[in-house]
Amino acid sequence: MSAIKLAIVGVGKIVHDQHLPAIAANPDYQLIASASRNHTVDGIPGFKSIEEMLAQMPEIEAVSLCMPPQYRYSAAHAALTAGKHVFLEKPPGATLSEVADLEALAASKGLTLFTSWHSRYAPGVQPAKAFLAANAPASMHVIWKEDVRHWHPNQDWIWQAGGLGVFDPGINALSIVTEILPERIFLSGASLEFPDNREAPIAADLHFQSAGALRVHAEFDWRQTGKQSWDVLVETAKGQVKLSDGGSRLWIDGVEQPLEKEAEYPSLYRVFADLVKAGKSDVDVAPLRHVADAFMLGKRKVVDAFHD
Ligand code: NAP
Repeated sequence: MSAIKLAIVGVGKIVHDQHLPAIAANPDYQLIASASRNHTVDGIPGFKSIEEMLAQMPEIEAVSLCMPPQYRYSAAHAALTAGKHVFLEKPPGATLSEVADLEALAASKGLTLFTSWHSRYAPGVQPAKAFLAANAPASMHVIWKEDVRHWHPNQDWIWQAGGLGVFDPGINALSIVTEILPERIFLSGASLEFPDNREAPIAADLHFQSAGALRVHAEFDWRQTGKQSWDVLVETAKGQVKLSDGGSRLWIDGVEQPLEKEAEYPSLYRVFADLVKAGKSDVDVAPLRHVADAFMLGKRKVVDAFHD
């Protein structure tokens, strides 16, 4: 099969940090265009909108949609309607129903839809999953605390309804949790803290349970200065599993495990190419469903206004 003629839509931080290097290093892709209102990618034609790009470059076979989640559905709908395979950045959309609609549209057209969850490809995740498959978890504690001013400067969309606030990083933790746990969990209680002047939460405290005895506590906070935490701690009869740095380091019973080197986005693009070749989709909304449940069940507390 010849290289997939790919276009990228919504050129911002993650496109430059991760998508462009991963695509350039993968011979399964030829990046031939971009669409973004204000930004372009050096060396390829740039269009102001996906509609204009699809009309002028019918040879495009697939698109990666990297704009904020509130604006992803209409672009994905336009791409699928035009017969293109679609890679969705995380979170896959602003609502569960719009992702279900895209899934049905992709299936009806025989196209690939991929809900990418990059943190699941952190090198410690599969070894942790394998250990927990053999050693049942008794409890889990997730601590995802970072400084929003450092990681998300000038990103207004993240504070707007549908931008998810602290769940934008927190959903990465939930993508790991839902990947490594051997049993399903569901939200049993939550509290969300909303700055007085924002539409999305700055902190969340979540409690989950399984049908059995498993309990999961997750703390997300965007006000963390100093040491940043992206940790998942799991207690088992054979000791503690500790995933740190977003899944890139792993300790089991106090012993750090040797891991492959980090390759989250190269892995995502490998999986997407495999899906396209196989004529399949991979649509997993489990992390987004937990976030939706938190907005549905969570108690709301208004806290101090947040200023950049
Ligand atoms: P970003 O830097 O704000 O870039 C998003 C781009 O989307 C913007 O540069 C903008 O380009 C375009 N866009 C289209 N419609 C927009 C609108 N109405 N409002 C704002 N921008 C719009 O954001 P990002 O950090 O790359 O994040 C994009 C997605 O990737 C998010 O879903 C995020 O969760 C995910 N992600 C981000 C990271 C990270 O480290 N930043 C990591 C993993 C995943 P134009 O102005 O040219 O249209």
